[in-house]
Amino acid sequence: MQYIILDLEWNQPISWQSPVYKQIGNKLIFEMIQIGAVKLDQNLQIADALSLPIAPTHYIQIHPRIRKMTGLGNEELAGAPAFREALEQFAAWCGEDYVLLTWGCDDVSVLQQNIDFFECQDISLAPLCDIQKLFTQVHSLKDRPSLKKAMEQMNIAPDESMAFHNARNDAWYTALVFQTLPDPAAVLEYTQTPKSLIHKPRKTRERTAMTPYPSVQAALESDLALKPTCPRCGRILALDGEYVLQSPDKYITIGKCRGHGKMLLRLALRTEEEGHVLMRRSVAPASYSNIAYVHTKQFQARQREGIS
Ligand SMILES: [Zn+2]
Repeated sequence: MQYIILDLEWNQPISWQSPVYKQIGNKLIFEMIQIGAVKLDQNLQIADALSLPIAPTHYIQIHPRIRKMTGLGNEELAGAPAFREALEQFAAWCGEDYVLLTWGCDDVSVLQQNIDFFECQDISLAPLCDIQKLFTQVHSLKDRPSLKKAMEQMNIAPDESMAFHNARNDAWYTALVFQTLPDPAAVLEYTQTPKSLIHKPRKTRERTAMTPYPSVQAALESDLALKPTCPRCGRILALDGEYVLQSPDKYITIGKCRGHGKMLLRLALRTEEEGHVLMRRSVAPASYSNIAYVHTKQFQARQREGIS
């Protein structure tokens, strides 16, 4: 069985308001514009490499950010085959007994969405496994590293003539990282399942459901209260001071996301019969007056504690 490392580049709508995106919507969020791959021999050495550009048929104009990142613009892709033809060429190049490997879990979902959208389910490909996940576990890393980070960690110098974010080059670099793994075959345990891709307009505020707690104290000490998440990125917010009572059954404080700034956190409690408590948390971007208000309340609360 042969290892084939695959990397993809894709285009996205110029705008989420564009007519073409409005028309096809979440059926195709990212349209593939390049397939890059390398084949490894029995000794995990690179035996062959492939770059297949794909001419987009829906998001025809290459997004400036993608163009800048990949070096692929409309000129470079002019005359390239459309998706089906490129995928057929790729499948033929892969041959018979092989497994596909990628860096990370994005490519598998983008590939699947393109296969579904362009109705290419008849072109069969081997399952995909994730090298990044294995690398992360082998090195006991907290976060999944980018390919570039993984190369730095393994002292693999990029080739000046091979820019990142070119599918063929990234597949090549992934192969170099793959070669450093103590037990490369373990990658076969990390089979990937494609996720359905949809474009989610970014939320800036969020409210949880009412959640039951045995007491007010338990509610205030719960993860719901103490480990609030940023509505935009899901990271846990760092609390800026303790919760203070705003009105009976309402507590507020400020939380900070390192990517999205300060948020106003509100806990609303409702005491049920038998002493049980229901609580929900809401999060929204904090205004200057929110922040000043919370700080004043926190200051007053500390003063009261000092007096009592
Ligand atoms: Zn955030």
